[in-house]
Amino acid sequence: MTTQAISLTTREEEQYHRRTPNSRRFFTEAREYMPGGDSRSTLFYRPYPAVIDRGEGCAVVDIDGNRLLDLTGNHSSLVHGYGHPRVLSAVERQLRKGTCFPGSSEPQLEFARLLCRRIPSVQRVRFTNSGTEATLNAIRAARAFTHRTRIAKVEGGYHGSTDDVMVSIQPSEGEAGSRARPTATAHALGLPPEVVGNITVLPFNDVHGARALIEAQGNELAAVLVEPVLGSAGMIPAERSYLEMLRGVTQPLGIVLIFDEVVSFRVAYGGAQDYFGVLPDLTCLGKLIGGGFPLGAFGGREDIMAMFDPSQGRPAIPHPGSHNANPIGMVAGAATLELLDKAMLERLNGLAGGLRDSVASAFLEAGIPVQVTGLGSLFGLHLTDRPVRCYRDTLGSRADLRHQIFLGLYNEGILIDPRGVGNISTSIHEAEIAQFLGSLKQVLARVTVT
Ligand code: PMP
Repeated sequence: MTTQAISLTTREEEQYHRRTPNSRRFFTEAREYMPGGDSRSTLFYRPYPAVIDRGEGCAVVDIDGNRLLDLTGNHSSLVHGYGHPRVLSAVERQLRKGTCFPGSSEPQLEFARLLCRRIPSVQRVRFTNSGTEATLNAIRAARAFTHRTRIAKVEGGYHGSTDDVMVSIQPSEGEAGSRARPTATAHALGLPPEVVGNITVLPFNDVHGARALIEAQGNELAAVLVEPVLGSAGMIPAERSYLEMLRGVTQPLGIVLIFDEVVSFRVAYGGAQDYFGVLPDLTCLGKLIGGGFPLGAFGGREDIMAMFDPSQGRPAIPHPGSHNANPIGMVAGAATLELLDKAMLERLNGLAGGLRDSVASAFLEAGIPVQVTGLGSLFGLHLTDRPVRCYRDTLGSRADLRHQIFLGLYNEGILIDPRGVGNISTSIHEAEIAQFLGSLKQVLARVTVT
């Protein structure tokens, strides 16, 4: 397999080079102005990322004119694909009225009402410009409410780029410590050591291990922060018993349970919390709720959220932001969620369930070990023969092979996330699923055939 894999890398990379000369030129120049030639580290892949010109429905077109079936939706931000007419017309109407105001606007109330009615645990909500700011404010709220500072987060969990959460996102086997008691590891240089020291890292889907750590620090912990589907680690769903344990153990200890539903919200009408039937104290949202515009939100229990209320004097937690709740994001988000009704979700999730099964069969036929994870319309591919239930389980997977498959799919006109994850939007139907599977089989055949 190794020799074949190496020769394939060369072949796929050569073809990628041939197909994307404008992207290569773009990056050569862009590096003169921006480190790495871009402003979003997660987009980089070898030899250089393709540059996108436009999106149309379920397709993107790069600046070399390659048209690709997009199974990323900007990393799960576009649940209806590109340029949905209902979202576009809501935005166009609002563009003419104004893009930002020195005051609240009706679209904010409408969207707040929609979210509070839709998400079981959200009694009050506030809007931000990103998921990063949503988790930042939720953590600050938990600390202020409990008068404690320590935060527990899950190993492999991603919650944005603030100091508190840039911990143990992708630790190497060597630095990660023991499985049941992971070592808190800085994900970037520049984090103050005391910040890292203030984070307890929980093992994911390990009911006993995580409960023991939380109970041992019960009086110190302000919050337990968890994604119901571990996104950047490869779309690994929580097991219901794990979330139930977190709910059960945090409540009596007065620890604020925060669900980061930036990615997992699309799993069910009221988010993954609705699917699992486990309600957190606070919820963070982002990506798809902005309908393609930069937007985040955090919300939950009225008594915790009351700390942001400025009407009784200076609020316990000020929450300024020049573009908070910008009306474009409000109307795009509302149109997006109105379209994403229960019937639409059922179709989408059914289609993705079939896709996960067919992808697993395609790998099996090709003789390449894979674990296909995911929930709802999310999927993750892990090139390993070990079951994947947490970040640690992904460490043995074949990153080199995954990269070849990614490039091979690009060459076939399919875009997935280079980390081997993807999702489907409502602009995708059986025909596109068949196209993806056909292309995947071609690529896998090139891996296995000498
Ligand atoms: N939480 C999760 C689960 C995410 O996946 C992300 C983004 N990938 C964030 C938070 C941060 O959101 P943003 O990129 O909008 O800051």
